[in-house]
Amino acid sequence: MSDPRKRRPFVFWAAFLLFGVLFYWGAKQALIHPETPIPTAWNPLVPLSVQDPVTPVTQWKLTQAIADPALCREVLSNTAVFEARSDRIDTEQCHIRNRVLLSSVGNADISMLETRCAIALRLAMWEHHGLQPAARALLGAEISRIVHIGSYNCRPIRTTSGSTGRMSTHATADAVDIAGVILSDGRRISLLSDWEGEDASAAFLREAQATSCIWFKTSLGPEFNRLHADHFHLQNTGWGTCR
Ligand SMILES: [Zn+2]
Repeated sequence: MSDPRKRRPFVFWAAFLLFGVLFYWGAKQALIHPETPIPTAWNPLVPLSVQDPVTPVTQWKLTQAIADPALCREVLSNTAVFEARSDRIDTEQCHIRNRVLLSSVGNADISMLETRCAIALRLAMWEHHGLQPAARALLGAEISRIVHIGSYNCRPIRTTSGSTGRMSTHATADAVDIAGVILSDGRRISLLSDWEGEDASAAFLREAQATSCIWFKTSLGPEFNRLHADHFHLQNTGWGTCR
C-alpha cells in the first residue's frame, strides 16, 4: 500500500500544468515581443544572422536556415554576394538543389562557386567566426580570397585504392573543397605548401581546419589521406568526422 500522504492530489497536477502553460506562453511572448530585451543572438525565434556572436542557439538557427531554402537565401544575402538559380537536376544521383552561384562570403572573395545554399551559408559562418579571426590572430592580416577547387562534381567517392560505387557528396553539391587563402597583403597560404611545418602559416591552417569542424558536419584534410594533401573536404552532411 502506498502512503496516501505521498500521493499528489489532482489540484497539484492541474496547478502544475497551468503553471507550465503560462510559463511557455510568457516565454514565447518575451521572445516575440518587438522590444524584447533578449539579444537576437540568443533568441531562437529570430533567424540566424551570420555576424551575430556565437551562442548556444547558433547551431540550431543554422540548421533551421539550411532546412528552409528561402530563409537560407535571405540569411546569405546579408553577408555574401551570390546569384540564386533554379535547381539543377542532371540525373537522379547528380543535382544541385537550392542552387547559388557564390562570389564572396563576408570580406573574402571566392571565384565563382556553383553550390547549394547550405554550403554557401556554412562557408559564410566559417569565414566570419573561424577563418578571419584565425588570420588576424596568427598572420596579422585579413583574408581577401578563399581559394576553392569546386563543389559540384557528378562522380563516385574516391579512395586511395580507387573509386567506389557510392556517389560522392560532391554529386549533390553537399561538399566543397578548399585549397587555401590569399591575404590582404598578398600572401598566399595553401595546404599543399604550408600544411607541414611549425610556422604561423601552418598554425593558421590547423586552426582553419579546427574551426571548419564547427561549421561543417564533416571535415577531411591532409591527415585523413593523401587524396586530401592539397585541400580540406568540407561537408554539409555527416556525423562530425574531423581529421
Ligand atoms: Zn571533396
